[in-house]
Amino acid sequence: MITYHLALTGMSCASCVSRIEKALLAIPDVQNAQVNLVNQSAAVSTIKNIPVDVLIKAIKHAGYGASVINNLEEEESTKALIEKSYYRHLTYKTIFAAIVGFPLLVMGMLDFMPSLITPVGRQINIGLCFLTFLTLVYSGGHFFIGAWKALRNHAANMDTLIALGTGVAWLYSLFAILFTKWLPPLAQHVYFEAAIIIIALVNLGALLELRARRHTSGAIKRLMSLQPKTARIIRINEEIDIPIEDLLIADLVRVRPGEQIPVDGIVVEGQSHVDESMLTGEALPKEKKMNDKVVGGTLNKSGSFIFKTTRVGKETTLAQIIQLVQHAQNSKPALARLADQVAGVFVPVVMIIAILTALIWFNVGAEPRVAYMLVTSMAVLVIACPCALGLAVPISVMVGVGKAAEQGILIRQADALQQAGQVTTIVLDKTGTITLGKPQVTGVYAVQKMDEQQILIMAASLEVGSEHPLAEAIINAAKDRGHSLLPVTNFQAISGYGVNGTIQEKLIWLGNAKLMDLQKIPIEGALKNQTEQLAALGQTPLYLAVDEQVIGMITIADPIKPDSKEAIIQLQKMGLKVIMLTGDHHGTAQSIAAAVNISDVLAEVLPQDKAKKIAELQAMKHIVGMVGDGINDAPALAQADVGFAIGTGTDIAIESAGIILMSGSLQGIVNAMLISRQTVGNMKQNLFGAFIYNIIGIPIAAGILYPFTGLLLNPMIAGAAMAFSSVTVVGNANRLRFFNPRNNIS
Ligand code: ADP
Ligand code: MG
Repeated sequence: MITYHLALTGMSCASCVSRIEKALLAIPDVQNAQVNLVNQSAAVSTIKNIPVDVLIKAIKHAGYGASVINNLEEEESTKALIEKSYYRHLTYKTIFAAIVGFPLLVMGMLDFMPSLITPVGRQINIGLCFLTFLTLVYSGGHFFIGAWKALRNHAANMDTLIALGTGVAWLYSLFAILFTKWLPPLAQHVYFEAAIIIIALVNLGALLELRARRHTSGAIKRLMSLQPKTARIIRINEEIDIPIEDLLIADLVRVRPGEQIPVDGIVVEGQSHVDESMLTGEALPKEKKMNDKVVGGTLNKSGSFIFKTTRVGKETTLAQIIQLVQHAQNSKPALARLADQVAGVFVPVVMIIAILTALIWFNVGAEPRVAYMLVTSMAVLVIACPCALGLAVPISVMVGVGKAAEQGILIRQADALQQAGQVTTIVLDKTGTITLGKPQVTGVYAVQKMDEQQILIMAASLEVGSEHPLAEAIINAAKDRGHSLLPVTNFQAISGYGVNGTIQEKLIWLGNAKLMDLQKIPIEGALKNQTEQLAALGQTPLYLAVDEQVIGMITIADPIKPDSKEAIIQLQKMGLKVIMLTGDHHGTAQSIAAAVNISDVLAEVLPQDKAKKIAELQAMKHIVGMVGDGINDAPALAQADVGFAIGTGTDIAIESAGIILMSGSLQGIVNAMLISRQTVGNMKQNLFGAFIYNIIGIPIAAGILYPFTGLLLNPMIAGAAMAFSSVTVVGNANRLRFFNPRNNIS
């Protein structure tokens, strides 16, 4: 699957979203198309490589503009420029419409409008007719162009509604001037001020919306600002500052106190403390010494060091985070797709309602029927603009995803953001999730004539071929004691059980009790008892067997992360069921679970069965969040309703998880859930805010209250209400920016 990213122009409202999506989906090989109204972009996934021109052409054909996004930073700055000039022009247009419209409005309210029957009055009106025509062209031209483009595609959008509403008002006024006598006396009236004020108000709404929207992309701007412009590189006999784009892999870079680390790498000299909070959300600076990984964008505190670059350019963690956040901000949760569908049918429905309103007023309405017909259908057209509807959900997603990134929580898909807060059951992997994932050998026991040293040497030699954290622990223990390892042939890893291989022509097995069972190697009573005792202390026992005989045992312990228990208790307080899932020994698992307040334990589960366990929980109507390291838990993460990958701070390419926690802390799950709940709540408020104006407004605009109270909605008030609805939505979404999960923990 290949994904193309396009910048779009000419979109005005929610109905444009579904139009462009439809146009893209109509192209063969296009699998998925997501258009985002908030930052005017499209993400298109195709089965195979296709020329981008095909996509651009299809969008142009639908009446919009498109260009490819190559460089995110460049894109961001050109977009800022375009937006700035757009904003300036829109300001002029709005001011001009207000200057023309306001005096007319005052005159109308004071009943000062020149008469249509006196010759002088007629002349003034003809003058106004020209003036308002110019204003419509200058200040409101974009509505008419948009409406025309839509019409050519046999479609209608928000522009259509505004253009129709104001255009009809102006045409009616022209008609009233030219053929005054044909109209009943009470309908001899012009509506120039209504047309102009509506244009001014809708423009004003768009301006306010643009302003508020600028803040929503703050997260990306903040991330981009973390990247320094230059790096001090060490060449054979000199040190120079070079632009960061010129850095290559394996360059040596010096970082001085207080400097930002330019790209990713490994420390080769010196030591320091590094503040990684901007990426992980973790407040405490981390110690960095020889061979430790450093991440671009983080801040060096007091020391000075040299590191060798490992990832530069688009490959750096920071660049990937930016890309991830940007994509997630553009993705749509189920709620948004629903809103888009509604918006897609909204405009035609509104037009039908407007026509019905006009027909009813014309046929059975009160006098002056013609004037009322005009006022009511105009008000219906204007108030029913589905503008805020298209913004409601995406704008919350933008803010919510950005907010999460600030806390070191990377959200891959908006769907994960929508779902995280609904999770009822959290399944935690043990190794690397609850525990540090840095196990250490705690004991080596010899059973027969062998000595402990030989046991450790054999075990370590075998484990060289394995990537399991336990293997690392055993190898490190042997190295620390200065042992040299033996050559191994026929190495084999048995996932969830252990390893085997041949050393000095003897077949050797190393693994858990299940492995011994599987090989029918007996474990004698005394050793078994000892094993259970050690397991009850949280240690993982591994057996070493040669010639079908257990000759030794190695115990390994993986310390629990200091804040695991606290986070688990918080999850439980939030009403979640917390379960531990592990491949480790029952006793060991129980002991660790007890230490972190977990009572439900699924132990000795083979890696391939972990996903099955999740599915079983789902079948019992649990909404499951699975938390794992993303390496051997990938199928389980993918199976869960929401997969949380516990990151190491550098690995963010974990595709199987919907949410990546940059810091290793389980507190991230609590925060992610709180942010999710807050964001979904915000989306719903926005949808309500967007709909309420329409739902209450349309019947009133159509004149439903007139028979009872004589109340009609002035089309200008309709214009104000519709402008206000987008401002409400954007403003409400911005409220999310101030949400802090820390203040919401009981
Ligand atoms: P976890 O759920 O803790 O991540 P795994 O499924 O990765 O556990 O492994 C489960 C068990 O299998 C380990 O606790 C260990 O007993 C055994 N095992 C797996 N790989 C190895 C290995 N390379 N060496 C020794 N034992 C292993
Ligand atoms: Mg694991």
